[in-house]
Amino acid sequence: MNILLDQAEIEAARVQYPPQPEVEFGFPKECYCGGEPLIRTSYTRTDPRRRFYTCENIDDGDCHVHKWWDVAATEEIKAIGTQYALLEKTVSELSKKKSPFRNGFELVLGGLVLLVMVISMFVMLK
Ligand SMILES: [Zn+2]
Repeated sequence: MNILLDQAEIEAARVQYPPQPEVEFGFPKECYCGGEPLIRTSYTRTDPRRRFYTCENIDDGDCHVHKWWDVAATEEIKAIGTQYALLEKTVSELSKKKSPFRNGFELVLGGLVLLVMVISMFVMLK
């Protein structure tokens, strides 16, 4: 009974790492276990000299990051491309909006200058 309970406790204590965006997308910033990802080179027959991310705590048998470096790099480049396209769109939209905004600002500024001139004229005439 005790042995069974202990076994259950061990199972319960075994941390299940949920998928984390910092591991799942692009270059892994952190492993599931919180460890720092390391870059290693594969020497397998199927992927010789292919670089991949692994974890410093890989030997403890838990779930750790394993990701090909080129897969991560492709994701990062795609993300940069998407961000760039978004930025380009925003800049082009802002530059379209720029002229009416500036004209409006100049109008307000001109109105203020006129108001100050009228007030100072009143003050001088008094
Ligand atoms: Zn790890």
